Amino acid sequence: MTVAPAPATAEDLGARIAYKTRYFDDPYELVEKILAKTVVPYQVEVQPGRIKGRELCWMPCSYCYGGSSENTGERLTPERYVDIINQTANGPHGRVDKMIFAGYATDPLNYEFIDDLMDTSRVLNQVIGVHSKLLRISDRLVDVLTRPGNRDTNYVTVSVDAGTPESYNATHSIKSKANLYDKVVENIARLTRSRNERGVPLDLATNYLVTRVNNDSAVVEKGIRDLIGAGVDSIRFSFPQVPRGHEDEVGTIVPTRREVIEITSRLKPIIDSFVGEKTKVVLMDYDGEQGISERRTLPCFARFIYPAIAYDGYLSNCSQSGAPHFRDMALGNMQTRDFWDAFYDYDTTDFWATLERQHEKMIKNDCRCDRKEHTVNRVFQSAFDRPS
Ligand code: SF4
Repeated sequence: MTVAPAPATAEDLGARIAYKTRYFDDPYELVEKILAKTVVPYQVEVQPGRIKGRELCWMPCSYCYGGSSENTGERLTPERYVDIINQTANGPHGRVDKMIFAGYATDPLNYEFIDDLMDTSRVLNQVIGVHSKLLRISDRLVDVLTRPGNRDTNYVTVSVDAGTPESYNATHSIKSKANLYDKVVENIARLTRSRNERGVPLDLATNYLVTRVNNDSAVVEKGIRDLIGAGVDSIRFSFPQVPRGHEDEVGTIVPTRREVIEITSRLKPIIDSFVGEKTKVVLMDYDGEQGISERRTLPCFARFIYPAIAYDGYLSNCSQSGAPHFRDMALGNMQTRDFWDAFYDYDTTDFWATLERQHEKMIKNDCRCDRKEHTVNRVFQSAFDRPS
């Protein structure tokens, strides 16, 4: 059944899928608030780790940012997560208005108690953003995400990265013949149906990371038609970055720069042919357009703008450093410290020296910015004229 997309919130949607969300108004004002310890993060990301089983995630994708992470088994209890989320909404200088549920080496919907966590944010009237592969979603979570009265900027972004069952399994390093692709498309349609029937705003965005094994023109075209049929608001094609643990594209399914150029010129006419659709279909070579080739952009201001609670329970610097091998950069252990206590724990007597000490750890630990982090850190790089 074809599900019609909800009326597009075009400005928000366009900005978000182009990595241009405004995280702050003025970098100088933000630094003043940091020095006064009155800064409040724009958003906090929760990356809960599954409690049962040995594996952190439900698939072993070879291009995963967090593929080199170790599962130490350390976890917050579900009650502690709820407690910490409640704390975020009651800070001494304001509340965190937006919670993101995502993962580094994990998928938030693979966590046993994810419904309780998101429902806590819903009750607190926080904006909820979800990044998932949507292999599974409970009826309760469909209900929580499509409740009348939810914030109108709530969104779900689904990484689909395929257009057929075969390309899905090849992209996600799945050896079996299980048809996971159709399941994901149906789960997306469950959300869009519920949203449309209840008439509530929920932006349904999908991502298609183009790799060496899913860029066939017919596969891409079928994928677009399937996702339009499922009622999504947008489909963003982009290229994966080389994950931590690899020096370059060799031995991965990440296309080289030369391949990116060839694939872009071949797929662009297909993607452009959907220009009249309600669903916004775009192809972005963001790294090429922005000239991003470095692993990270310094100075790094991520911890003040969008820290993340990692699967091991530590408040981490950003969404890309939520794992035990980044622990010497972490802001604090949420098992034993409260959110705002850890968030405001930094030395302001020589602020740039404090940042520099963190930067040394970032280089040693080989963290790698995602695109929103490159984009935001670049604002500070040019505002304060500090070399990367
Ligand atoms: S990955 Fe980027 S944003 Fe995250 S800690 Fe490293 S430099 Fe900062």
